[in-house]
Amino acid sequence: MRAVVTGGAGFIGSHLCERLLHENHDVVCVDNFLTSSPDNVQHLEGDRHFQLNHWDITQGLDMPGPVDAVLHLASPASPADYLKLPLETLRVGSAGTWHALDLAAAKGARFLLTSTSESYGDPLLHPQPESYWGNVNPVGPRSVYDEAKRFGEALTTAYRRSRGVDAKIVRIFNTFGPRMRADDGRAIPTFISQALRGEPITVTGDGSQTRSLCYVDDVVDGLLRMLTSDHGGPVNLGNPHEVSMLELAQWISKLARSRSEIALVPRPQDDPERRRPDITLARELLDWEPTVPVERGLCDTIADFRRRLGSGLLAERS
Ligand code: NAD
Repeated sequence: MRAVVTGGAGFIGSHLCERLLHENHDVVCVDNFLTSSPDNVQHLEGDRHFQLNHWDITQGLDMPGPVDAVLHLASPASPADYLKLPLETLRVGSAGTWHALDLAAAKGARFLLTSTSESYGDPLLHPQPESYWGNVNPVGPRSVYDEAKRFGEALTTAYRRSRGVDAKIVRIFNTFGPRMRADDGRAIPTFISQALRGEPITVTGDGSQTRSLCYVDDVVDGLLRMLTSDHGGPVNLGNPHEVSMLELAQWISKLARSRSEIALVPRPQDDPERRRPDITLARELLDWEPTVPVERGLCDTIADFRRRLGSGLLAERS
């Protein structure tokens, strides 16, 4: 298979490129490094089956030669990024998704959209099945991401229905693992870098809000199962086990053997109270469920952060 991975230099994308190469596929990674760095895929560049294209997909996406699959991951993903990059987020979710779908249509390739649990907004139903339509504030600060992804889902569905593209949608819930950026604003990288630097671990609100945390290898496995399945989705991919932010901070502090204290700080606007996937569909259609225990995933992630901190690669982005 020759696979195009948009956003392939990002956190999840770089693990996906690795896995595709490991399974003997050819990979074209297209990325403009808006929220990532070429460092994430530097180790793949010697592989003759890997090609890195520095390109902004909102400008169009042409590709010589055959393409069997387009895996569309390009988009700022963390709240800190999309709040800082609102127009870029809307553009890549709309024009970028359009170009990626056009490429799949032109090449007769399979297409996979990585949508998000944020399509459910601040959900009124727990856990969230794919049939739930969500509770999104269209003019709230997070709407640039939520609505871009919801538009992407509508566009993907329209290409599937009207152009016959074998297009699929997954809704990814919180994912963690090595290569997350220390400053991406999400709880795990923030807590780990604070714990390793000996700074206070900042938990927002009273820390009782929960998230479900899935290790990146499991998510990548789910993406590939979905790509090669006969289903269009949407299908949720995530870990149904919920962890409170306070528990998570205590857990990371212990695993990192940190002496940092835990400090409670105000919660951001529109921060969802809970999000938990109903993964019945993924179990039934893809025979998929998370296999990596959160504790093991946290240990690997802490080890990666420790290594980057030691080699100066964990500098804050400006
Ligand atoms: P990331 O920010 O690490 O990776 C996104 C990549 O897209 C980056 O490398 C960035 O440079 C690239 N990109 C952005 N705009 C681009 C453009 N116009 N042209 C080319 N490249 C562009 O984020 P991630 O965590 O790896 O997320 C990957 C995908 O998975 C995203 O679509 C995100 O919405 C989705 N997702 C992630 C999570 C999660 O927990 N990480 C949860 C739900 C959904």
